[in-house]
Amino acid sequence: MAKRDIGWEYGFVESSDETGIVCGFCEKKMRGGGVTRFKGHLAGVGNDVTSCTKVLPDVRLRIQASATSISATSSSSEDSKLLISFKLALQNPNLLSTWQTNQDPCYFTGVICKTSRVSSIDLSSINLNLDFNLVSSYLLSLQQLERLSLKKTNLTGNLTSAAWKSTSCSEMLAEIDLAENNLSGSISDISSLSGCKSLRFLNLSRNLGFSSNQK
Ligand SMILES: [Zn+2]
Repeated sequence: MAKRDIGWEYGFVESSDETGIVCGFCEKKMRGGGVTRFKGHLAGVGNDVTSCTKVLPDVRLRIQASATSISATSSSSEDSKLLISFKLALQNPNLLSTWQTNQDPCYFTGVICKTSRVSSIDLSSINLNLDFNLVSSYLLSLQQLERLSLKKTNLTGNLTSAAWKSTSCSEMLAEIDLAENNLSGSISDISSLSGCKSLRFLNLSRNLGFSSNQK
């Protein structure tokens, strides 16, 4: 096995026991499967491998981009990858215990599919304690997403135009419910949502507040 593989930048073999690779992030030892399986651990994809909970987000993305042999090729696996990345970015990923790599995302708690693609996500009333940036980074770009409810999920952050614009909104996205959270922002920024062409319902009630002031 070639030691120059990108995976070796993040894991090592103990001299006392050369049968496994030790993860440099979580110190978990992966037995068998070599560096490919280890990269699956880092990337959160692959067969028969647990996802790393401590890998840095940029490293995970780097591994996912590099390891074409382990990364998903089908579109539904793209959905799965985004959902797993979202889960692992949470302060407590265990809240979404049914969201597992190598499982059909259509069976994840709160997820509904149409023709094997994620079309609806409802995580309302789960104390996710997350920043809106995670939502725009991972969920809003799900290609076939039509409905998203994160009502009462302890969602924080400022809905700046940058936060909205940084994402490529699903062309199908019609409903977003962000009520009963701790979001703030200004109404003028929310107009940046015009990029979400199909959007017809946005609930921001009972948040910290949205000012109409120009910046
Ligand atoms: Zn790890």
